[in-house]
Amino acid sequence: MIEKIENVTRIEVSKFRFSVNIYLIDDILIDTGFPRTAEELLNYLKNKKINKIVNTHGHIDHIGGNSVIQKYFRCKIYLYSIERKYTTLKRIIFGTPEKFSSENLPEKIKTEKHSFDVLYTPGHSKDHITLFENKEKLAFSGDLVLHGEAREVSNEVEIYKAIDSLKKLKSLKPEKIFPGHGDIFHGYEVLDKKINYLEDLGEKILKLHEEGKNIKEIVKIVFGGERFPYIFTKKYFSAENLVKSYLTDKVLNC
Ligand SMILES: [Zn+2]
Repeated sequence: MIEKIENVTRIEVSKFRFSVNIYLIDDILIDTGFPRTAEELLNYLKNKKINKIVNTHGHIDHIGGNSVIQKYFRCKIYLYSIERKYTTLKRIIFGTPEKFSSENLPEKIKTEKHSFDVLYTPGHSKDHITLFENKEKLAFSGDLVLHGEAREVSNEVEIYKAIDSLKKLKSLKPEKIFPGHGDIFHGYEVLDKKINYLEDLGEKILKLHEEGKNIKEIVKIVFGGERFPYIFTKKYFSAENLVKSYLTDKVLNC
C-alpha cells in the first residue's frame, strides 16, 4: 500500500499478518521492510532516486531490504550498529537478511529540502533512533510509538528508557509522527497517552511486587495471563518480559 502524506511517501509492505512501513522523503529511505518484501520494494523504487537509507533500528522487519536496495542504488546505509542475531522463527517467516555495508549515524542527516536530527531513542531496543525534522516537526519514530497498548514485548525492551525516549520526543512537539507500523499520528497527544499508560502500568506492577506477588501472578492480575504470542514466539514476546522490565530496571536503579 502506498500513501502520500504531503512530501512523505509511506510504503506499507506485508508478510502473513505482519506489516511494516517504509518512508521515502526526498532521496532518503527510512527502513526497508522484511527480507521477503525486498524485491517488491525495489520494484516500486526503481524509477526513484535513493541516496541514503536510514534504519530506525536493526530489527528484521526494518532492515530486511537493505542489501537489495543498496546493491541497486549503491547508496549508503546509516544505522546504530549492534551485533544482531535473528531467531530461526523470524527467518522462516520474514526471510534471512543478506549482508550489507553500513556507516555510523551522524548527528544530522541532510537532503536538498530537509535536515533531520538523529535522536537516540532506546527502549524498544538498544539501537533505536528517531529522525526528527525540526522545521515541519516530523518524527520518523520506528517502533518507539506503536499503535495499541504495550502488552507482549520482547526481552530487549527497557521500559524506563522507552518512557524517557517518549518524553524526549514529546518535548520536541512533533506535528506528525510516522511509526514503523500502522497509520501516522497527527499531533503529539498520543505521546501523552503512551507515557501515562506506561507510568500507570509501572505503578500497578511495582505495587503488586511490593505486596509479594511473583512475576507470573502479576501477569495474571494485570493482563489476565499470557496470550497467543507467548506460545507462538516461544516466549520471545510475552507480558512476562514487560513485567520483568519494570522490576529489573527498578532494582538496578536503586
Ligand atoms: Zn522493532
